[in-house]
Amino acid sequence: MNKTYISTRNLQKEINFYQAIVQGIGDDGGLLVPNFDLPKLDLKQLVNLNYVELATEVISTFVPDEGKELIHQACINAYGKGLFPEIVVPVEKAGDVYIAELFHGQTAAFKDMALSLLPHLMTLSLKQLNEDRLVMILAATSGDTGKAALEGFKDVEGTCIKVFYPLDGVSAIQQQQMISQEGKNVKVIGIKGNFDDAQSAVKVAFGDASLKEASDQHHVFLSSANSINVGRLIPQIVYYFHSYFELVRRKEITMSEEINFCVPSGNFGNCLAGWIAKQMGLPVKRFIAASNKNNILTDFFTTGKYDANREFYKTNAPAMDILVSSNLERLVWFMSNKDGNKVREYMDKLKKDGVYEVDADIFARIQEEFSAGYLTEQQVMETIKDCYEKTGYVLDTHTACGYGVLKQYQKETNDQTKTVLLSTASPYKFPESVYQALFNEGLDVYEAIEKLHKKTGVAVAKPLIGIQDRPVLHHDHIDKTEIIHFIKSEIEKI
Ligand SMILES: *Cc1c(COP(=O)(O)O)cnc(C)c1O
Repeated sequence: MNKTYISTRNLQKEINFYQAIVQGIGDDGGLLVPNFDLPKLDLKQLVNLNYVELATEVISTFVPDEGKELIHQACINAYGKGLFPEIVVPVEKAGDVYIAELFHGQTAAFKDMALSLLPHLMTLSLKQLNEDRLVMILAATSGDTGKAALEGFKDVEGTCIKVFYPLDGVSAIQQQQMISQEGKNVKVIGIKGNFDDAQSAVKVAFGDASLKEASDQHHVFLSSANSINVGRLIPQIVYYFHSYFELVRRKEITMSEEINFCVPSGNFGNCLAGWIAKQMGLPVKRFIAASNKNNILTDFFTTGKYDANREFYKTNAPAMDILVSSNLERLVWFMSNKDGNKVREYMDKLKKDGVYEVDADIFARIQEEFSAGYLTEQQVMETIKDCYEKTGYVLDTHTACGYGVLKQYQKETNDQTKTVLLSTASPYKFPESVYQALFNEGLDVYEAIEKLHKKTGVAVAKPLIGIQDRPVLHHDHIDKTEIIHFIKSEIEKI
């Protein structure tokens, strides 16, 4: 089969997997998507594989046949060499909810699941394309992507990486993790603006003519580590299969039994990866997308209207403080039966008016498979406390959105289907909020880590131990309007 990729907006020619990884985004501003029918996998053949083998099987279906051995090696490098625990994604239980912990990678963030692999996909793709220009990775981050990308690309040959984070939009720990990043090819820049500002500027950078000219002159090209890259999306499909098979192996479910997934969502890459797993044969009934007070996705899934003309809130679950949920574009593309012209119309409208509404038939298909809900900050705090008191499990603020929304959903619908909640952060990533929720005391971040550990017994995430003592290596702060200029000057230094 000829496995090519096209853009959700239909205006770019077909490219192969390696080009899609390297290019990052469609040259019409759309997102790259597989231009082939997603293959159905045979569950029985996969159920007993370890994570590396499972990842190889799942991911290589997106790659030309002869690429399988390369993918296998990349998966070993990412998941098999001690950067993750032996069980890459442990599945715990809190009451009747299964919790798949996606935060055991080298930066204690769920983003590690994909960003541990992306640099390997990038280097193998560069080799396949005989590319000798330097790749400059641009990443906007609401907190966790930045650190995970820095760690993934640090000192990777043929690449350099620039990470832009909103100065007021990330937690103290996230900031410290990033600005203490080591590596010869890394740079971390604080932006006076919010995450959407940073993400929009990075998206604009890819289409900017003056940057293109400078890149050509300096033998550089720009690529992305954001979840718009298919190389982020595809590795995330794996842990849906893995979580399912964990439950089968433990006899919690029978093979082929349908389950639900509840996903704390922002840019929607995580949840979309689950939906793709379903297209590949994973028995899933519904996806429940959970948000915080920035409830644009909840509104979309209940009305079919995506309306970004609303206030932006900074919340205690900052990785989900988002108004432009990029990966939704891919879902709309699939649900419109891959009608790129339609998607382009919607996205033009979103750009022009800040709002679009999908056609009734598209919305009907979406509603068949997705539910959604959100929690206020106060509800997040109550949920953390309630879950701990009832089950002994300590949720972080993001996972708490999922847990609370799942409980609401179960109550409203009486749906008893067994459900896996994806946990996207260690509680130690947001220790002040978690400690405040559990013990009603405001502590400074490092004291909160220590006392949270003492009182709950939950092990501190390894990457966070001693983090306060690491020297600050990155001091750049710029205005959101200066991002393009900044990138240009970085290119010119090469
Ligand atoms: C990135 C992130 C999310 C949102 O994931 P998306 O794939 O963007 O929907 C949720 N929680 C945490 C902690 C994250 O870092």
